[in-house]
Amino acid sequence: MKFLKQVGDYAKETVQAAKYIGQGLAVTFDHMQRRPVTIQYPYEKLIPSERFRGRIHFEFDKCISCEVCVRVCPINLPVVDWEFNPVSKKKQLRHYSIDFGVCIFCGNCVEYCPTNCLSMTEEYELSTYDRHELNYDNVALGRLPYKVTNDPMVTALREFVYLPKGVMEPHDLPANARRAGQRPEEILAQDQVQDLAQDRAPEDIGNKE
Ligand code: SF4
Ligand code: SF4
Repeated sequence: MKFLKQVGDYAKETVQAAKYIGQGLAVTFDHMQRRPVTIQYPYEKLIPSERFRGRIHFEFDKCISCEVCVRVCPINLPVVDWEFNPVSKKKQLRHYSIDFGVCIFCGNCVEYCPTNCLSMTEEYELSTYDRHELNYDNVALGRLPYKVTNDPMVTALREFVYLPKGVMEPHDLPANARRAGQRPEEILAQDQVQDLAQDRAPEDIGNKE
C-alpha cells in the first residue's frame, strides 16, 4: 500500500509540475505577441515625439531683451542681461542664460517669446556630474541640437506607440513607414463627413413627414 501511495504522490506531483511549466510557457508565448519595451541604449535610441520638450535652443541675434520669457516663466528662470544703448536708444543684449537644473521644461518661454528666438529641441541627454554645468549660457543655448536621426553611431527607432498596426518589431521598419493612427487631415475629413450627415438628418426627417 505504501508503494502505491508513493507512486500516486509522484504522479500527482508530475501533473502539478507539468501544469506549472505550461503556465510559465503560456506567459512566455503571450509576451511573444506583445510589442517590445526595451531598446539597446545607447546603441539604439527612440526618436522623441514631435512635440517633445527637450533642451531649449536660443538665437542670440533675434532676442530683443523684452524679458517676456522671464515674466511667463513659473520660476522667473531665464537671465536676460542687457544694457541700454544710448545711440540706438534700444536695449542691447549682453548675456542670456537658462539653468536646466531648475527648468521644468514647461515651454512657456518658448510659447510667449515675441521673436521666436527660443525653441524646444529633441535633446534630453543633459546629465552632468556637476549641477552648475546645467546653467547654459547663450553660447551653449545657441548650439545646434543633437538629433537621434543624425547620429551615425545610433540606430534610431520609432516610438513603440507609433508602430503601424500589426508591426511588432521596430528594428526593421522603413524610415518612411506610416505611423499608427489617423493623420490630422484624415480626422478632419471624417469630422466633415459626420457634420454633413448630421446636417442632412433633419432634412430627411422633414421629407419623411
Ligand atoms: S521652459 Fe518653463 S521653466 Fe524652463 S525657462 Fe522656460 S518658462 Fe521657465
Ligand atoms: S521673450 Fe524672447 S525676445 Fe524677449 S527676452 Fe526672452 S528670449 Fe529674448
